Amino acid sequence: MMAFSVRLTFHGDLPFFLRSKSARLERQLTERTSVKDIIEACGVPHTEIDLILKDGKPVDFARVIGTESDIDVFPIEAVSVTAFPEKRLQVLNIRKFVADGHLGKLARDLRLLGIDVVYDRHAEDGQLAMISKTEDRALLTRDRRLLMYGSVRHGCYLKSQHPLEQTVQVIKRFNLGSALTPLTRCLRCNAVLEAAEKAKIVDQLEPLTKIYYDQFRRCPECRQVYWPGSHLEKLQKRIEAIRTATMVQAKGKPVL
Ligand SMILES: [Zn+2]
Repeated sequence: MMAFSVRLTFHGDLPFFLRSKSARLERQLTERTSVKDIIEACGVPHTEIDLILKDGKPVDFARVIGTESDIDVFPIEAVSVTAFPEKRLQVLNIRKFVADGHLGKLARDLRLLGIDVVYDRHAEDGQLAMISKTEDRALLTRDRRLLMYGSVRHGCYLKSQHPLEQTVQVIKRFNLGSALTPLTRCLRCNAVLEAAEKAKIVDQLEPLTKIYYDQFRRCPECRQVYWPGSHLEKLQKRIEAIRTATMVQAKGKPVL
């Protein structure tokens, strides 16, 4: 087969993923290759791409490129609301997640806000990809190689190493503002909490807690008991910090 060249233009903040950081690249190919593989060979995981145009026309990830082409690649936030709405490559209304083993603080933040997040700090890459696929969960990670797995349909590359910024990024990316139900999920194991009668859990309580508190919730899975008190105050402060950070990032537009 004759060699042919593919010219790629990466829009929005996608050059962040490129080694050259320059938005335009040219690739010489000698065999027919899917557009997903061509783009990922440049360093950009497919989970970050919402629209691909080949010579001005939208294509999906599986499109095979075999001749000279101009490819435009757009991230989610760089596509105008009206451009090719039926050809978008990402699903944005995902409400379930799986976080990789390095993201314990992010997983805890999201659970604190009531978001369903599977997290096991010992999980391996293959397991994470499988959970993402079989349970239809978006994979949260800072490992772009993991996001390039063909089995990972939905995911998000976290740009920051800072848990608060990561939490804000996930809320914005998946538009979770209206889906938040703070303090309804177990921080340890992700199960939804249930109201618990004091009489049934009284033997799990410290003496002062027994005296001062009457309202309790319990995790049906790991049996952890939650009640109002100094611990809850700390959690509420964290929720407030996330809310403030999200508003600042939205330039004053509250999304929570
Ligand atoms: Zn639990």
